[in-house]
Amino acid sequence: MKDNPFDNTSPPSVFCASGNGPYENTKAALANIDLSPTKGKRVLLKPNIGRNAAPKTGIITDPDVTAAAIDAFRDAGAVVTVADSPITGVKIEEAYVTSGLKAIADSRNCPLIDMDIRKYVPLDIPNGQAIKALKLCADIPEFDIIVSIPVMKTHMHTGVTLSVKNMKGCLWRRSKVDLHMLQPLPGRTEKPLDIAIADLATVLAPHLAIIDGTVAMEGLGPGAGKPKPLDLVIVSADPFAADSVACKIMGIETIDVPHLKMAAERGCGTIDLDKINVSPHDWHNLIDPFEPPPVKLSLEFPGFTVLDNQSCSACQSTLLLFLKSHADELREKVKDNKDIVIAIGKGHDELPPGTLCIGNCTAKHKDCGIFVPGCPPVSSEILREYFK
Ligand code: SF4
Repeated sequence: MKDNPFDNTSPPSVFCASGNGPYENTKAALANIDLSPTKGKRVLLKPNIGRNAAPKTGIITDPDVTAAAIDAFRDAGAVVTVADSPITGVKIEEAYVTSGLKAIADSRNCPLIDMDIRKYVPLDIPNGQAIKALKLCADIPEFDIIVSIPVMKTHMHTGVTLSVKNMKGCLWRRSKVDLHMLQPLPGRTEKPLDIAIADLATVLAPHLAIIDGTVAMEGLGPGAGKPKPLDLVIVSADPFAADSVACKIMGIETIDVPHLKMAAERGCGTIDLDKINVSPHDWHNLIDPFEPPPVKLSLEFPGFTVLDNQSCSACQSTLLLFLKSHADELREKVKDNKDIVIAIGKGHDELPPGTLCIGNCTAKHKDCGIFVPGCPPVSSEILREYFK
């Protein structure tokens, strides 16, 4: 990763702006950062367009936040490009249109690229604990400055997804899934996914974070939670400090977010709020606790037992969408009182007879119950397979 050109003197500073809509909030927060070092530099704006979703749903970054960032960096003389690489099963051209980002980029004649087109470049992680190498989108090393622009969300597997976790979207195509397929590390209690995200942060942390809290997401994030309007943007040249302030506003202690805690302990950034300058001084008034992600999906959907072992976001989204739309219908049609058991992910050694096995990762168990193929599977296929 190239050196951070922004003022990164200690203690780090975090700037919050709220109440004036996504464009003005972003401009106001960015006005506190000296962007002049970006003059003539290639700047990549990396929003979260991981799913095909409309603005103001809490699923993707608000296009007006990215618009304000394009304008601010261009005013400073930077050469700006916008790009993302989505989760498995999402077509980025469609997601760019649905998200409103294509219209924003076209109106500014700003390049909006699909980072999955070119072949990956290898990314070595010399001090990686869970991973030693990954496949990186080839465009990434060609930029001087990377700006992470996540939408503020709770996440069922990682607690939150903010500017540090958003960098996982720089991994090439389906290789993102590799981080969900790791085996537990001997002697470690942390999930290998969390360790791997911390590993990634040691070699690929953004230079600047712009966290979009225009409409955030709480509960069943990252794909099926509830929109939470905050009309807020948070900016910092220390992405860990920005994420830490965002966590506090969400009612979450950063030390309870394993990937942020582990990466900060490895010297990647500052998460201790006592060592961070936050503006405005009354920012604590912004605290608005989020509904946490459920520890067990079965609690959210009574009558179902969900066995999730080493699945990725794509299968979780499919399952959550399915349960949200069809859980009652399925329960009514199934006549006995036993829980309907559903499995996702490749980490299951054995499954109870009759399990609804969703996704190709569960294929080895297909003879023990009902198997819905796909990677990711299609939500509407699940009912069809169940009653065929
Ligand atoms: S089958 Fe599901 S969990 Fe497995 S890689 Fe595909 S989308 Fe991810």
